[in-house]
Amino acid sequence: MSTLDHNDMILNAQAERMLQVMNSSVDPCENFYEYACGRWSEVYPLEDKALDNTFDRLREGLDEVLKQLLEEPITSEDSRSTIIAKTLYKGCMDEEKIESLGVTPLKTLLSQLGGWPVLEGEAWNEEAFDWVELMAKLRKYNNDILLSEWVGADVTNSSNHIIQLDQPILGLPGREYFMSAGDQDYRMAYMELMLKTCELLGVSPEKALQDMINVLQFEKQLAKILTPAEERRNLSAIDWIKYFHIIMSPSLSPPSLTSSESSAPSKETEERYVIVFAMKYIRKLVTLIQETSKRTVSNYLMWRFVKNRMNNLGKASQDAKQDFIQILFGSKSQPERWLTCVSYVNGNLGYVLGSLFVKKYYPQTSKKDLDFNESDHFWNVIKMLQFHALSTHDLLSKPVSRIEWTTTPAVVNAYYSRSKNMIMFPAGILQPPFYHPAFPRCLNFGGIGVVIGHEISHGFDDNGRQFDEFGNLQQWWTDEDVSHFYDRATCMLDQYSNYKVTSTGLKINAVNTLGENIADNAGLKIAYKAYQKWKLLNGGETIHLPRFNLTHDQFFFLNFGQIWCEVNSPEAMLTKIRVGQHSPNKYRVIGTLSNSKEFSDAFNCPEKSTMNPKEK
Ligand SMILES: [Zn+2]
Repeated sequence: MSTLDHNDMILNAQAERMLQVMNSSVDPCENFYEYACGRWSEVYPLEDKALDNTFDRLREGLDEVLKQLLEEPITSEDSRSTIIAKTLYKGCMDEEKIESLGVTPLKTLLSQLGGWPVLEGEAWNEEAFDWVELMAKLRKYNNDILLSEWVGADVTNSSNHIIQLDQPILGLPGREYFMSAGDQDYRMAYMELMLKTCELLGVSPEKALQDMINVLQFEKQLAKILTPAEERRNLSAIDWIKYFHIIMSPSLSPPSLTSSESSAPSKETEERYVIVFAMKYIRKLVTLIQETSKRTVSNYLMWRFVKNRMNNLGKASQDAKQDFIQILFGSKSQPERWLTCVSYVNGNLGYVLGSLFVKKYYPQTSKKDLDFNESDHFWNVIKMLQFHALSTHDLLSKPVSRIEWTTTPAVVNAYYSRSKNMIMFPAGILQPPFYHPAFPRCLNFGGIGVVIGHEISHGFDDNGRQFDEFGNLQQWWTDEDVSHFYDRATCMLDQYSNYKVTSTGLKINAVNTLGENIADNAGLKIAYKAYQKWKLLNGGETIHLPRFNLTHDQFFFLNFGQIWCEVNSPEAMLTKIRVGQHSPNKYRVIGTLSNSKEFSDAFNCPEKSTMNPKEK
C-alpha cells in the first residue's frame, strides 16, 4: 500500500470510530459528553466488566500484541531478559501445574514466616511474635501492610534517594468501606473471603470465625486512625519528623518505631534520614497495636499477605477472590487467563516487554538476579516480589537520575513527576485516537496535545506548585500569587462539588480531585492555544476528515471529549468517587468545556446554554 492509501485508511478508520460513538442528535451546547460519547455503551456494552473506556480499549489492543510476542517460542536469538519474560508468562499460563500444586506453596511460605495463627490454632507461638519483625519480613515480599514504605526522591533535596513512610492502603478500597453504615454488604463480602480462604487452607469457617471477626474489628480501627485524603493535600502542613535511625544489616531492617523520637542513633549503626508523610497515623498505630492482642495483629498481617497471593493459586482460590471482586466492583467474571498473565508480566517486567514492543535492544544485565521456572508460577511470583523490594532499596546507594523514566513503554497512560519536574509519554499512548502523523492537527492537538498540556499543568496544581523547578518542596511563588491561586481554586472547588453522579447518588469530591481538575482545565487551554499558533505558523490545516461536516476547531473539542468516553458499573463508580484522584470522565469533559470560551465560540453556543454558563 502506498503512504497515501495508508493515510486514507487511517483517516477513514478514525472517522468511523468517531461517528460510531457520538450521538449527533444531542445538542453539543447542552451536554457535550452525550454528544461526543452518547452511543459508546451501545458500541461497547459493559457486559461483565467493571469499567470500559478509551484507554482500556487501547490497552486491549496492546495486550494482544504483547501476547503474541510472549507466546513466540524461546530461541537462541533471545536475550536473557526476553527469556526471563517468556518463562514468567509460561509459568503463569500453566494452569494445570498451578492446579496440581493447590495451596501447598502458600502454606509452605506461611510456615516459613512463623505461621498464620488462624491456621495454627492453639499451637501458634505467641511468645515468639514481634509485629515489627513480621511487618518487615512481609515488606521484603513487596507487601506494604500497616505501613507503606519505599525509596524515592527526597522532597527537600530531589537529587537524593531517601526512605519514605506513609499510611498504608487497606483490604477494602478506602476507609469509608470500613466505617460507613451503608457498606455492610461490602464488609460481609470481605468476611466471606476471609472465611473461604481459611477453608481452602484447611480450617473450617466455624473454627476461623472468631479470629477473623477480630481481624475485621482491628482493620476498622485502622481505618479510623488513617488521615482522610482531603487533609493530606498540603505537604508542608503535615507533621514532619526530621530523622529516624534505621539499622542497615545485612539488608534493610525496620525503623524502631517506639523509640525513634527520644533515643539518639547508636554509634554502631549508620544514620539515615527518613521522610514520614503520616506521623499522626504512625503514633496512633503504635498505640493501637499495644492495645490489640498479638494474635490479632499477626492474623491481620498474614491475612493481608494471603489475600494478595490468592490470585497466584489454583481455580478455587481465584474463584473465591472473584466472588469478592464482583460484589466490590461489579465485574461478573475473571478476565481471560492470557490477559491476566500478559498484564502480570508487563506490570512486573515492563521494560523487557516494552523493548520487545518497540523492537529495541534491552541491556542484558539488568535482570541478572532473576531466574524463573516455567512450572512454578507461585514461587516465580514470590521471587518477583522480593526482586522489587530489593530493587527499591538498592536505589538508596544511588543518586536520583533525572532522566530515568518511572513508567515503561507498553503502557496507555501519561505521567508527571514532581521530583524530576518531568513529563512522560509512553509509546502505548502515541496512537489513534490520541495521535497519528496522518491526522489533521486538530485531532492531535485535541488528543495527545491536551494530555501533554494536562501533564505539564500538574507542575502548577495544588500539589505541584509546592515544588520548585528542581523538584524540591519550597514555596517559589509570592504570597500574593499563592493567595490568587487559592481564589481560583476555590471557584473550581465550588464548580466540581456541584456535580452529582446519578448511579451512586454521590457528589464529586472536589477537594480530592482538585489537582486533576486544575490540570484538565489548564491542559485544554494551553493545547488549544498551541493549536491556534500552529495554524498561524503553518497556514492552516490541509487534511480533512472524511464523512464529517465539522470545523477543525470543532474536531479539536470532539476528539478531546471522545478520549474520555467511558462506562462504569455503579460499584466501580462508587470506588472512583470515594478514592479516585480524577473526576468521573463525564465531568472531566463537561467541567472543562463549560469553562472554555473557545469551546462555546467553536460551537456557537447561545448565552446561558448549559455548556456556556456566564460564570466560567
Ligand atoms: Zn493527571
